[in-house]
Amino acid sequence: MLSLCYKAFHSIVCIFAIKLKENIEAMQETPIEKLGEFALINEITKNIQIQNTSTLKGVGDDAAVLSFSEKVVTTTDMLLEGIHFDLMYTPLKHLGYKAVAINVSDILAMNATPSQILLSIAVDKRFTVEMIEDFMEGVHYACEKYRVDLVGGDTTSSLTGFAISVTAIGEATEEELCYRDGAKPNELICVSGDLGASYLGLQLLEREKALFEKEGVQPDLAGHDYILERQLKPEARQDIIALLKKLKLKPTSMIDISDGLASDILQICKTSKVGCLLYEDKIPIDYTAYNMAEELNINATTCALNGGEDYELLFTLPLDAHDIIEKTPEIQTIGYITEETKGHILQTRGGAEVELKAQGWK
Ligand code: ADP
Ligand code: MG
Repeated sequence: MLSLCYKAFHSIVCIFAIKLKENIEAMQETPIEKLGEFALINEITKNIQIQNTSTLKGVGDDAAVLSFSEKVVTTTDMLLEGIHFDLMYTPLKHLGYKAVAINVSDILAMNATPSQILLSIAVDKRFTVEMIEDFMEGVHYACEKYRVDLVGGDTTSSLTGFAISVTAIGEATEEELCYRDGAKPNELICVSGDLGASYLGLQLLEREKALFEKEGVQPDLAGHDYILERQLKPEARQDIIALLKKLKLKPTSMIDISDGLASDILQICKTSKVGCLLYEDKIPIDYTAYNMAEELNINATTCALNGGEDYELLFTLPLDAHDIIEKTPEIQTIGYITEETKGHILQTRGGAEVELKAQGWK
Protein backbone atom coordinates (compact mmCIF):
# COMPACT_ATOMS: atom_id res chain seq x y z
CA MET A 1 0.00 0.00 0.00
CA LEU A 2 2.71 2.40 1.07
CA SER A 3 5.01 1.48 -1.81
CA LEU A 4 2.14 2.23 -4.19
CA CYS A 5 1.84 5.69 -2.67
CA TYR A 6 5.53 6.30 -3.21
CA LYS A 7 5.16 5.43 -6.88
CA ALA A 8 2.56 8.12 -7.46
CA PHE A 9 5.01 10.52 -5.95
CA HIS A 10 4.28 14.03 -7.12
CA SER A 11 0.54 13.73 -6.69
CA ILE A 12 1.10 12.65 -3.09
CA VAL A 13 3.18 15.75 -2.47
CA CYS A 14 0.40 18.01 -3.79
CA ILE A 15 -2.32 16.27 -1.82
CA PHE A 16 -0.35 16.38 1.39
CA ALA A 17 0.50 20.03 1.18
CA ILE A 18 -3.17 20.86 0.87
CA LYS A 19 -4.39 18.29 3.39
CA LEU A 20 -2.06 19.62 6.02
CA LYS A 21 -3.37 23.14 5.58
CA GLU A 22 -6.88 21.85 6.10
CA ASN A 23 -5.79 19.92 9.15
CA ILE A 24 -4.27 22.92 10.77
CA GLU A 25 -7.23 25.12 10.01
CA ALA A 26 -10.22 22.84 10.28
CA MET A 27 -9.08 19.87 12.43
CA GLN A 28 -11.49 17.44 10.83
CA GLU A 29 -9.53 14.52 12.22
CA THR A 30 -9.16 13.15 15.75
CA PRO A 31 -7.32 15.72 17.90
CA ILE A 32 -4.45 14.26 19.85
CA GLU A 33 -5.79 15.51 23.21
CA LYS A 34 -8.77 13.16 22.79
CA LEU A 35 -6.46 10.18 23.03
CA GLY A 36 -4.31 10.83 26.09
CA GLU A 37 -0.67 9.88 26.55
CA PHE A 38 -1.00 6.12 27.05
CA ALA A 39 -3.35 5.60 24.14
CA LEU A 40 -1.06 7.68 21.95
CA ILE A 41 2.01 5.59 22.86
CA ASN A 42 -0.11 2.51 22.17
CA GLU A 43 -0.99 3.94 18.78
CA ILE A 44 2.69 4.58 18.03
CA THR A 45 3.97 1.20 19.14
CA LYS A 46 1.15 -1.05 17.96
CA ASN A 47 2.59 -2.26 14.63
CA ILE A 48 6.12 -3.12 15.65
CA GLN A 49 7.66 -6.25 14.14
CA ILE A 50 10.91 -7.54 15.63
CA GLN A 51 13.31 -8.80 12.95
CA ASN A 52 16.65 -9.19 14.71
CA THR A 53 17.80 -11.82 17.20
CA SER A 54 19.89 -9.12 18.93
CA THR A 55 16.61 -7.61 20.19
CA LEU A 56 15.78 -9.48 23.40
CA LYS A 57 13.16 -7.01 24.66
CA GLY A 58 11.73 -4.17 22.61
CA VAL A 59 8.99 -1.67 23.44
CA GLY A 60 6.83 -2.20 26.51
CA ASP A 61 9.15 -2.18 29.49
CA ASP A 62 11.15 0.58 31.17
CA ALA A 63 14.02 -0.05 28.76
CA ALA A 64 14.86 -2.30 25.83
CA VAL A 65 17.33 -5.18 26.19
CA LEU A 66 19.76 -5.97 23.37
CA SER A 67 22.43 -8.63 22.98
CA PHE A 68 25.46 -8.35 20.71
CA SER A 69 28.48 -10.53 20.11
CA GLU A 70 30.44 -7.87 18.20
CA LYS A 71 31.20 -4.15 18.43
CA VAL A 72 28.16 -1.93 18.94
CA VAL A 73 27.82 1.23 16.83
CA THR A 74 25.40 4.02 17.78
CA THR A 75 24.36 7.36 16.31
CA THR A 76 21.61 9.92 16.80
CA ASP A 77 20.10 12.75 14.76
CA MET A 78 17.44 15.35 15.49
CA LEU A 79 14.99 16.75 12.98
CA LEU A 80 13.21 19.95 13.95
CA GLU A 81 10.26 21.53 12.16
CA GLY A 82 11.26 24.86 10.67
CA ILE A 83 14.96 23.96 10.78
CA HIS A 84 15.20 20.59 9.04
CA PHE A 85 11.79 20.19 7.44
CA ASP A 86 8.72 22.15 6.42
CA LEU A 87 5.35 20.46 6.88
CA MET A 88 3.86 22.58 4.10
CA TYR A 89 5.37 20.24 1.56
CA THR A 90 6.78 17.32 3.54
CA PRO A 91 4.40 14.36 3.66
CA LEU A 92 4.53 12.91 7.18
CA LYS A 93 4.93 9.39 5.80
CA HIS A 94 8.06 10.46 3.98
CA LEU A 95 9.34 12.32 7.01
CA GLY A 96 9.01 9.16 9.12
CA TYR A 97 10.90 7.23 6.48
CA LYS A 98 13.61 9.88 6.18
CA ALA A 99 14.14 10.14 9.96
CA VAL A 100 15.00 6.43 10.04
CA ALA A 101 16.96 6.37 6.75
CA ILE A 102 19.37 9.18 7.67
CA ASN A 103 20.31 7.44 10.92
CA VAL A 104 20.68 4.07 9.21
CA SER A 105 22.94 5.84 6.70
CA ASP A 106 25.34 6.85 9.51
CA ILE A 107 25.52 3.26 10.78
CA LEU A 108 26.22 2.02 7.24
CA ALA A 109 28.96 4.64 6.81
CA MET A 110 30.80 2.86 9.64
CA ASN A 111 30.45 -0.33 7.55
CA ALA A 112 28.22 -1.73 10.30
CA THR A 113 24.87 -3.52 10.07
CA PRO A 114 21.98 -1.47 11.51
CA SER A 115 19.77 -3.45 13.87
CA GLN A 116 17.68 -1.21 16.17
CA ILE A 117 16.34 2.32 16.44
CA LEU A 118 14.85 4.41 19.23
CA LEU A 119 12.40 7.13 18.27
CA SER A 120 11.46 10.19 20.31
CA ILE A 121 8.90 12.69 19.15
CA ALA A 122 7.37 15.90 20.46
CA VAL A 123 4.08 16.96 18.89
CA ASP A 124 2.07 20.15 19.22
CA LYS A 125 -1.69 20.81 19.23
CA ARG A 126 -2.00 20.87 15.43
CA PHE A 127 -1.36 17.14 15.31
CA THR A 128 -4.12 14.62 14.88
CA VAL A 129 -4.05 10.88 15.48
CA GLU A 130 -4.25 10.38 11.71
CA MET A 131 -1.11 12.49 11.20
CA ILE A 132 0.81 10.41 13.75
CA GLU A 133 -0.40 7.27 11.95
CA ASP A 134 0.95 8.61 8.65
CA PHE A 135 4.30 9.44 10.23
CA MET A 136 4.53 6.01 11.86
CA GLU A 137 3.65 4.29 8.59
CA GLY A 138 6.81 5.80 7.10
CA VAL A 139 8.85 4.79 10.16
CA HIS A 140 7.62 1.18 9.96
CA TYR A 141 8.19 1.06 6.21
CA ALA A 142 11.82 2.13 6.70
CA CYS A 143 12.30 -0.32 9.59
CA GLU A 144 11.12 -3.13 7.35
CA LYS A 145 13.24 -1.98 4.42
CA TYR A 146 16.47 -1.68 6.43
CA ARG A 147 15.68 -4.58 8.77
CA VAL A 148 15.85 -2.59 11.99
CA ASP A 149 13.69 -3.01 15.08
CA LEU A 150 11.97 -0.05 16.73
CA VAL A 151 12.77 -0.89 20.35
CA GLY A 152 11.71 2.21 22.25
CA GLY A 153 11.56 5.95 22.48
CA ASP A 154 9.67 8.74 24.12
CA THR A 155 6.54 10.69 23.27
CA THR A 156 5.92 14.15 24.59
CA SER A 157 4.15 17.38 23.73
CA SER A 158 5.69 20.52 22.34
CA LEU A 159 4.40 24.10 22.56
CA THR A 160 5.17 24.72 18.95
CA GLY A 161 6.58 22.55 16.19
CA PHE A 162 7.19 18.89 15.56
CA ALA A 163 10.51 17.51 16.85
CA ILE A 164 11.95 14.10 16.02
CA SER A 165 14.97 12.36 17.46
CA VAL A 166 16.12 8.98 16.19
CA THR A 167 18.92 6.91 17.65
CA ALA A 168 20.20 4.01 15.57
CA ILE A 169 22.20 1.02 16.79
CA GLY A 170 24.23 -1.38 14.70
CA GLU A 171 26.81 -4.08 14.89
CA ALA A 172 30.16 -4.81 13.20
CA THR A 173 33.25 -6.90 13.76
CA GLU A 174 36.44 -5.04 14.56
CA GLU A 175 37.74 -5.82 11.03
CA GLU A 176 34.56 -4.56 9.35
CA LEU A 177 34.53 -1.17 11.06
CA CYS A 178 35.46 1.67 8.78
CA TYR A 179 36.50 5.08 10.11
CA ARG A 180 37.16 8.43 8.47
CA ASP A 181 40.87 8.33 9.23
CA GLY A 182 42.10 5.49 7.02
CA ALA A 183 42.63 7.24 3.66
CA LYS A 184 46.18 7.06 2.20
CA PRO A 185 47.84 8.90 -0.73
CA ASN A 186 47.18 7.34 -4.17
CA GLU A 187 43.94 5.69 -3.09
CA LEU A 188 40.79 6.08 -5.17
CA ILE A 189 38.01 8.42 -4.03
CA CYS A 190 34.69 6.77 -4.84
CA VAL A 191 31.05 7.74 -4.50
CA SER A 192 27.80 5.83 -4.91
CA GLY A 193 24.75 7.05 -6.86
CA ASP A 194 24.55 10.68 -7.90
CA LEU A 195 24.79 14.02 -6.11
CA GLY A 196 23.02 17.37 -5.93
CA ALA A 197 19.50 16.17 -6.71
CA SER A 198 18.25 16.42 -3.12
CA TYR A 199 19.25 20.07 -2.87
CA LEU A 200 17.61 20.82 -6.20
CA GLY A 201 14.43 19.04 -5.03
CA LEU A 202 14.42 21.33 -2.00
CA GLN A 203 14.88 24.44 -4.16
CA LEU A 204 11.95 23.37 -6.32
CA LEU A 205 9.73 22.80 -3.27
CA GLU A 206 10.70 26.18 -1.83
CA ARG A 207 9.93 27.89 -5.14
CA GLU A 208 6.50 26.27 -5.35
CA LYS A 209 5.78 27.07 -1.72
CA ALA A 210 6.59 30.74 -2.28
CA LEU A 211 4.28 30.82 -5.32
CA PHE A 212 1.51 29.10 -3.38
CA GLU A 213 1.77 31.51 -0.46
CA LYS A 214 2.08 34.65 -2.55
CA GLU A 215 -0.32 33.97 -5.37
CA GLY A 216 -2.26 30.85 -4.36
CA VAL A 217 -0.78 28.97 -7.32
CA GLN A 218 -1.12 25.19 -6.93
CA PRO A 219 2.29 23.48 -6.86
CA ASP A 220 3.42 22.21 -10.23
CA LEU A 221 5.74 19.34 -9.44
CA ALA A 222 4.93 17.09 -12.40
CA GLY A 223 7.91 15.46 -14.05
CA HIS A 224 10.25 16.15 -11.11
CA ASP A 225 9.73 12.86 -9.26
CA TYR A 226 13.41 11.99 -9.00
CA ILE A 227 14.74 15.18 -7.41
CA LEU A 228 11.69 15.37 -5.10
CA GLU A 229 12.13 11.80 -3.99
CA ARG A 230 15.82 12.46 -3.32
CA GLN A 231 14.85 15.31 -0.99
CA LEU A 232 11.72 13.92 0.65
CA LYS A 233 12.45 10.20 0.79
CA PRO A 234 16.21 9.60 0.67
CA GLU A 235 17.53 6.05 0.86
CA ALA A 236 20.38 4.75 3.00
CA ARG A 237 22.74 2.83 0.67
CA GLN A 238 22.56 -0.57 2.34
CA ASP A 239 22.79 -2.04 -1.17
CA ILE A 240 26.23 -0.44 -1.70
CA ILE A 241 27.57 -1.89 1.55
CA ALA A 242 26.31 -5.32 0.41
CA LEU A 243 27.83 -4.78 -3.05
CA LEU A 244 31.25 -3.86 -1.61
CA LYS A 245 31.16 -7.03 0.51
CA LYS A 246 30.27 -9.08 -2.54
CA LEU A 247 33.13 -7.51 -4.51
CA LYS A 248 35.42 -8.23 -1.52
CA LEU A 249 36.35 -4.55 -1.31
CA LYS A 250 36.75 -2.88 2.05
CA PRO A 251 36.91 0.92 2.07
CA THR A 252 39.94 2.38 3.85
CA SER A 253 37.78 5.32 4.95
CA MET A 254 34.09 6.14 4.56
CA ILE A 255 31.49 8.84 5.29
CA ASP A 256 27.90 9.38 4.17
CA ILE A 257 27.22 12.57 2.25
CA SER A 258 24.95 14.67 4.42
CA ASP A 259 26.60 18.10 4.16
CA GLY A 260 27.76 17.97 0.54
CA LEU A 261 30.63 16.30 -1.31
CA ALA A 262 33.10 19.14 -0.63
CA SER A 263 32.50 19.28 3.10
CA ASP A 264 32.46 15.49 3.48
CA ILE A 265 35.63 14.73 1.47
CA LEU A 266 37.34 17.48 3.50
CA GLN A 267 36.25 15.63 6.67
CA ILE A 268 37.96 12.47 5.41
CA CYS A 269 41.07 14.44 4.40
CA LYS A 270 41.30 16.29 7.71
CA THR A 271 40.85 13.13 9.79
CA SER A 272 43.20 11.06 7.59
CA LYS A 273 45.74 13.92 7.24
CA VAL A 274 45.81 13.70 3.44
CA GLY A 275 45.03 15.88 0.43
CA CYS A 276 42.72 15.15 -2.49
CA LEU A 277 42.28 15.76 -6.18
CA LEU A 278 38.70 15.64 -7.50
CA TYR A 279 37.70 15.85 -11.16
CA GLU A 280 34.61 17.94 -11.81
CA ASP A 281 33.69 15.92 -14.90
CA LYS A 282 33.65 12.68 -12.86
CA ILE A 283 31.13 13.89 -10.26
CA PRO A 284 27.93 11.94 -10.95
CA ILE A 285 24.91 14.20 -11.44
CA ASP A 286 21.55 12.94 -12.74
CA TYR A 287 20.34 14.62 -15.93
CA THR A 288 17.08 15.67 -14.22
CA ALA A 289 19.19 17.46 -11.61
CA TYR A 290 21.14 19.19 -14.41
CA ASN A 291 17.86 20.31 -15.97
CA MET A 292 16.54 21.74 -12.72
CA ALA A 293 19.84 23.51 -12.01
CA GLU A 294 19.60 25.13 -15.44
CA GLU A 295 15.98 26.13 -14.86
CA LEU A 296 16.87 27.69 -11.49
CA ASN A 297 20.00 29.28 -12.91
CA ILE A 298 22.40 27.60 -10.50
CA ASN A 299 25.51 25.57 -11.20
CA ALA A 300 24.87 21.81 -10.95
CA THR A 301 28.42 21.11 -9.74
CA THR A 302 27.93 23.61 -6.92
CA CYS A 303 24.77 21.71 -5.91
CA ALA A 304 26.73 18.43 -5.86
CA LEU A 305 29.63 19.96 -3.91
CA ASN A 306 27.65 21.98 -1.38
CA GLY A 307 24.00 20.94 -1.49
CA GLY A 308 24.06 17.97 0.86
CA GLU A 309 21.39 15.51 2.03
CA ASP A 310 22.36 13.07 -0.73
CA TYR A 311 23.02 10.24 1.76
CA GLU A 312 25.30 8.58 -0.77
CA LEU A 313 28.45 6.84 0.47
CA LEU A 314 31.81 8.51 -0.10
CA PHE A 315 34.80 6.24 0.46
CA THR A 316 38.39 5.50 -0.43
CA LEU A 317 39.72 2.25 -1.88
CA PRO A 318 43.22 0.95 -2.64
CA LEU A 319 44.38 1.77 -6.18
CA ASP A 320 44.17 -1.88 -7.27
CA ALA A 321 40.36 -1.76 -6.91
CA HIS A 322 40.28 0.47 -10.00
CA ASP A 323 39.45 -2.24 -12.56
CA ILE A 324 36.63 -3.67 -10.45
CA ILE A 325 35.09 -0.22 -9.80
CA GLU A 326 35.34 0.60 -13.50
CA LYS A 327 33.00 -2.34 -14.16
CA THR A 328 30.60 -1.38 -11.34
CA PRO A 329 28.05 1.20 -12.56
CA GLU A 330 26.70 1.86 -9.03
CA ILE A 331 30.05 3.36 -7.95
CA GLN A 332 32.09 6.14 -9.59
CA THR A 333 35.75 7.03 -9.07
CA ILE A 334 35.84 10.81 -8.80
CA GLY A 335 39.47 11.44 -7.85
CA TYR A 336 42.51 10.43 -5.83
CA ILE A 337 43.90 10.92 -2.37
CA THR A 338 47.15 12.91 -2.41
CA GLU A 339 49.81 13.94 0.11
CA GLU A 340 48.49 16.49 2.62
CA THR A 341 50.91 19.13 1.31
CA LYS A 342 49.20 19.01 -2.12
CA GLY A 343 46.05 20.52 -0.61
CA HIS A 344 42.45 19.89 -1.60
CA ILE A 345 41.96 20.44 -5.30
CA LEU A 346 39.07 20.36 -7.75
CA GLN A 347 40.10 20.10 -11.38
CA THR A 348 37.36 21.84 -13.36
CA ARG A 349 36.00 20.73 -16.73
CA GLY A 350 38.19 23.38 -18.34
CA GLY A 351 41.30 21.93 -16.67
CA ALA A 352 41.79 24.69 -14.10
CA GLU A 353 42.67 23.67 -10.54
CA VAL A 354 40.68 25.37 -7.78
CA GLU A 355 40.80 24.90 -4.04
CA LEU A 356 37.96 22.80 -2.66
CA LYS A 357 36.07 24.66 0.04
CA ALA A 358 33.34 23.53 2.37
CA GLN A 359 30.47 25.95 2.12
CA GLY A 360 27.37 23.95 2.95
CA TRP A 361 24.16 25.89 2.39
CA LYS A 362 22.47 27.01 5.58
P1 ADP B 1 8.53 5.66 30.65
O1 ADP B 1 7.52 6.47 31.38
O2 ADP B 1 9.10 4.52 31.41
O3 ADP B 1 9.54 6.49 29.93
P2 ADP B 1 6.77 5.60 28.44
O4 ADP B 1 5.37 5.60 28.96
O5 ADP B 1 7.36 6.88 27.97
O6 ADP B 1 7.69 4.91 29.50
O7 ADP B 1 6.87 4.57 27.24
C1 ADP B 1 6.30 3.26 27.32
C2 ADP B 1 6.97 2.37 26.32
O8 ADP B 1 6.73 2.85 25.01
C3 ADP B 1 8.50 2.30 26.48
O9 ADP B 1 8.91 0.98 26.15
C4 ADP B 1 8.99 3.29 25.45
O10 ADP B 1 10.28 2.92 24.99
C5 ADP B 1 7.94 3.15 24.36
N1 ADP B 1 7.77 4.39 23.60
C6 ADP B 1 7.30 5.59 24.02
N2 ADP B 1 7.28 6.48 23.04
C7 ADP B 1 7.77 5.84 21.94
C8 ADP B 1 8.01 6.23 20.60
N3 ADP B 1 7.78 7.48 20.16
N4 ADP B 1 8.53 5.32 19.75
C9 ADP B 1 8.81 4.07 20.18
N5 ADP B 1 8.58 3.64 21.42
C10 ADP B 1 8.08 4.52 22.31
MG1 MG C 1 9.17 7.87 28.46
